[in-house]
Amino acid sequence: MALPSEEKKQMIDRGYYNGFGGAFIPEILVATFDELEDIFQKAKNDPAFWQEYAALMSNYSCRPTPLTFAENLSRHFGGPRIYIKREDLNHTGAHKANNVMGQGLLVRRMGKTRVIAETGAGQHGVATATMAAKFGFKCTIYMGEVDVERQRPNVFWMERLGAEVVPVREGSRILKDAINEAFRDWVANMDNTHYVLGTACGPHPFPEMVSYFQSIIGQEARRQILEQEHKLPARVYACVGGGSNALGIFNGFMKDPVELVGVEAGGRGLDTGQHASRLCAKDASIGVAQGYKTYFLQNTDGQMRETHSVAAGLDYVGVSPILAQLKESGRVRFEAATDTEVVEALSLTIRTEGVIPALESSHAFAQAFKEAPRLSSEDCIIINQSGRGDKDIFTIADAFGDPKWQEFIIGKAEKYHA
Ligand SMILES: *Cc1c(COP(=O)(O)O)cnc(C)c1O
Repeated sequence: MALPSEEKKQMIDRGYYNGFGGAFIPEILVATFDELEDIFQKAKNDPAFWQEYAALMSNYSCRPTPLTFAENLSRHFGGPRIYIKREDLNHTGAHKANNVMGQGLLVRRMGKTRVIAETGAGQHGVATATMAAKFGFKCTIYMGEVDVERQRPNVFWMERLGAEVVPVREGSRILKDAINEAFRDWVANMDNTHYVLGTACGPHPFPEMVSYFQSIIGQEARRQILEQEHKLPARVYACVGGGSNALGIFNGFMKDPVELVGVEAGGRGLDTGQHASRLCAKDASIGVAQGYKTYFLQNTDGQMRETHSVAAGLDYVGVSPILAQLKESGRVRFEAATDTEVVEALSLTIRTEGVIPALESSHAFAQAFKEAPRLSSEDCIIINQSGRGDKDIFTIADAFGDPKWQEFIIGKAEKYHA
């Protein structure tokens, strides 16, 4: 998974989080990264920029999203009062909107006219294509050929939104290959093109920039819990793929006496090798890939391993360097939830509260449910519902083994064969 001309990679002194992070990028991209860093820092220091961003998100993406008191779940466990931060109510159904819309504003400030992105499960591709349609940018989405086949509904929407979806036939034809291809495109087209990276990973300034935009979640959640409970939560739970929704909500409580819990994909179990846990599993190790230094799931010669999770959006080999540092400093506790625990937590949440969390988000619910019975009823906790589960109907219906769903799918297929 070498970046183009990796021999020319150079290490920049910025964007390090206690040794994690950095910007291992080909020399030819240095000026482009400088430009991005410059425009981002200027925007960050300009109060009008955050106002513009918040106004856009309120007008286009239903912000502020509610902080819902889960009365029935709270009663069910008899422990703390459980609150759910409703990122599922964003436009396109997840917190990903926060990141892409923020980057869209920066693209406009840079005067660029085209965006590219990588996508695995397709959610970030749909979010980016949506942003491009809204801002009038040209859009190309790189997606591993295997993922294009697996995620047809998302590919359908990206194309309807006007994006060109390029199936990547290199390597194992999945997310990491799409990332390499997106970097190649960027090198060739950096004058007019911005690469909309999808999570708080990759070379500096992406980890900082993505968590800056996502911090809108934590800012709102902190204000809302103080309004509703008149006190801070004991714990905040979020699932961890690349780490952007977790950093987004954690940022609001970083300086408070609040325990922050990041939940990774335990897949079939941490001892099976079939998981996507970089911060809990013993088989993850520190390395440099895709332009930054962090914990990766890699084999002994630094080749990236296959990961597994019932939630496609958590299925990634690296993790935010900011979270790697927060693990080492002990500020955030990391846990892993298995596929089975996640499907059970999802099922309970749908039945008791009538909300449908994404399979990704259900990892945070699963861990909170494990801990809730041991917490005091004087306390409250927040679970970040990073996205909505309607998109997961194919996977969830399979996991529940719903026979009528199988009949429906077979019936559809037969209709096309006829
Ligand atoms: C993409 C996605 C994630 C994982 O990404 P992070 O950067 O870790 O937040 C989590 N939840 C949902 C609903 C997603 O779509």
